[in-house]
Amino acid sequence: MSNQSKKFNTLIIGAGGVGNVVAFKCAMNVQTFGNITLASRTLNKCDTIASNIKNKLDVTLNTAKVDADNVSELVKLIKELKADIVINVALPYQDLTIMDACIKTGVNYLDTANYEHPDSAKFEYKEQWARDDEFKKANIMGLLGSGFDPGVTNVFCAYAQKHYFDEIHTIDILDCNAGDHGYAFATNFNPEINLREVSAKGRYWENGKWIETEPMAIKQVWDYPEIGAKDSYLLYHEEMESLVKHIKGLKRIRFFMTFGESYLTHMKCLENVGMLGIKEVEHKGQKIVPMEFLATLLPDPASLGERTTGKTNIGIFAKGIKDGEEKTIYIYQVSDHQKCYEEVMSQGVSYTTGVPAMIGAKLMLEQKWEGSGVFNMEQLNPDIFMEELNKQGLPWRVLELGADETREIK
Ligand code: NDP
Repeated sequence: MSNQSKKFNTLIIGAGGVGNVVAFKCAMNVQTFGNITLASRTLNKCDTIASNIKNKLDVTLNTAKVDADNVSELVKLIKELKADIVINVALPYQDLTIMDACIKTGVNYLDTANYEHPDSAKFEYKEQWARDDEFKKANIMGLLGSGFDPGVTNVFCAYAQKHYFDEIHTIDILDCNAGDHGYAFATNFNPEINLREVSAKGRYWENGKWIETEPMAIKQVWDYPEIGAKDSYLLYHEEMESLVKHIKGLKRIRFFMTFGESYLTHMKCLENVGMLGIKEVEHKGQKIVPMEFLATLLPDPASLGERTTGKTNIGIFAKGIKDGEEKTIYIYQVSDHQKCYEEVMSQGVSYTTGVPAMIGAKLMLEQKWEGSGVFNMEQLNPDIFMEELNKQGLPWRVLELGADETREIK
């Protein structure tokens, strides 16, 4: 049977903010995804999402309970469902166990964030790339980081390299969330993952070397189309690890994210009192991890959707040469939190992550993106992914700027 006529079985793992969007978007593309199952640790979260999808789209999803830290439980579920693809939108801690279950069952794998060990706030591709041989032996494809950043930002870089440059010399990845949820402090995706990322040291790559900075030590003001000027802070972000390997002639790559003053003041204060700690402490005879306790207190990111207004703008600002001339371009995508909520009952950060996850999986099932081994997004043909972004709710723009023009406000 050709892939065009086969009815696929799709397994989505993780029923948080991103899982909700992936489930909605797969249901909107049910002709590709076939039988869709949403599985997570807490079954009722899956059931709530499935019931919302039934009401809004009249598509029926199956639900299941699974502990994705447990490879044999995963193998059993994947076999039962005869899954053709596993979309991992649980947490980065589960990447390796889900990848191992995919190797054992010979099923394609996709995720949106690179592996992180629960006990050390360090994320890197090393252990996922190390599974390349096993993916090749099993003749399956693993697509790593198919969210927005990483994900679409990698595809933007590949698209810029393919169509606009002979060599890209510098890239600034610019991530602006100008959304307002009305709380003094909340995180737009999993609080633990978010706070670990932003409280870590900053890092960027220049002339072949990584340069480390203190957390939030480098601030620039960028003018974001459709939003305006925003304070933007240099962070380490995972897509840079693969982009430095795959973008020709690159001399420097940095990542900036916007933060408001209230967010930063709260974060500093929480850090100063030890609430961002990831090591166990004893409290009245009970062992607790401060960061996990904080995540319990903070609003569930999935609940922010209804109350969030404003826009996101994520893109890449790239400089390089084409036919001997210097060239500057800015590729970006703007999403409106309220519009995202109207469509899939999630705010823009979950939306901009979940849509690319669905697109990556769609291209894999349709065999438009194929191969055996593990891949980062920029290694694959960007054009078909860029087309799908326009069709599936994430339209983008390219601004061709003067060689010396910038959107940084000095
Ligand atoms: P949430 O915390 O909202 O959801 C995570 C889900 O995973 C929950 O349903 C949780 O279940 C489930 N889960 C956790 N542990 C397990 C387990 N052992 N077995 C089964 N299910 C489990 O996170 P988000 O939806 O905000 O984020 C999902 C992923 O997306 C994360 O990896 C995040 O890093 C990534 N992300 C990527 C972005 C990008 O642009 N690339 C941007 C934003 C997020 P339970 O409710 O029972 O705890």
